[in-house]
Amino acid sequence: MIVVMKSGASPEQIQKAKTVMVELGYQPHPIEGLLRTVIGAIGDERGKPEDVEALSILGGVEKVIPILPAHKIASREFKPENTTIKVRDVVVGNNKIPVIAGPCSVESEEQLMEIAHSIKESGATMLRGGAYKPRSSPYTFQGMGIEGLKLLAQAREETGLPIVTEILDPHDLDSVVQYADVLQIGARNSQNYALLKEVGKSKKPVLLKRGMSTTIKEFLMCAEYILAEGNEDVMLCERGIRTFETATRNTFDLNAIPVLKEKTHLPVIADPSHGTGYWQYVTPMTLAAIAAGADGVIIEVHNNPEVAVSDGGQSLKPHKFKALMEKASAVAKAIGREL
Ligand code: PEP
Ligand code: MN
Repeated sequence: MIVVMKSGASPEQIQKAKTVMVELGYQPHPIEGLLRTVIGAIGDERGKPEDVEALSILGGVEKVIPILPAHKIASREFKPENTTIKVRDVVVGNNKIPVIAGPCSVESEEQLMEIAHSIKESGATMLRGGAYKPRSSPYTFQGMGIEGLKLLAQAREETGLPIVTEILDPHDLDSVVQYADVLQIGARNSQNYALLKEVGKSKKPVLLKRGMSTTIKEFLMCAEYILAEGNEDVMLCERGIRTFETATRNTFDLNAIPVLKEKTHLPVIADPSHGTGYWQYVTPMTLAAIAAGADGVIIEVHNNPEVAVSDGGQSLKPHKFKALMEKASAVAKAIGREL
């Protein structure tokens, strides 16, 4: 880390800062400028954020700049090569871009099987569907629970598509783990640290959504909670953030894709359905996300969006999804990747 002293810091204060650095296990390397002194602290600062705090409260210290990010396991410095995650026969994080598709909520056998077969025919690689739903209102549909998980397993049986489904509560972990191939942590739970630790202890791949008001740095710290428990299979999902804009449900943060790709080795998945909130914008933002370097996409598809119990307005009908796949495939090819 680098300790920047205030311009009026006394020689005693500079000496004190150097002494504390040595006590904490660092080698101080002062650079004396005309106006102020900057001290480079050489040593392993990983996992010791308290050292930054200890130095920053000393007299005469203006600020302390850590060199290594706090999200150490998630960082590219820690692991330069891309992480690949195996979900049954699908590999996430390599040149091939998986497309996860399906309804927001599992509603019935007829609904799920029809959607699952149609997305499979169009070339989707995984099936999504919520059995436990995090709804903004406690009075709206909360999901089918275990019955929904069983239907997802049936759809996997019929189509061969691995399933991605949300876990809301650590109490449901045992049952969700039994059925799911990927555990989804939703935006509303993205900083639910107790839940993150629990899924970290399980060995299931995790699709971690970005919270609607979490910064990219905070998002990486959420992933760090899962990684720190020993689960290395984390996919990060950009699903839009809250801004002042009201024309769309969220503001899909396209910037986050290249930023995350630079900062972390974890695969980045784009969710333009929640990112925009309107089906008309889903296809263009899917193409943009692939062009920006997303390693996968997750799209809501419904056979009858008009009567969907959740997120009908942002769900594509099967024929629109088919058209999306064709365009997405062309964009992937243009940047040297494939669907
Ligand atoms: C969902 O995937 O249906 C969902 C609830 O997403 P988010 O957590 O991103 O709002
Ligand atoms: Mn949804």
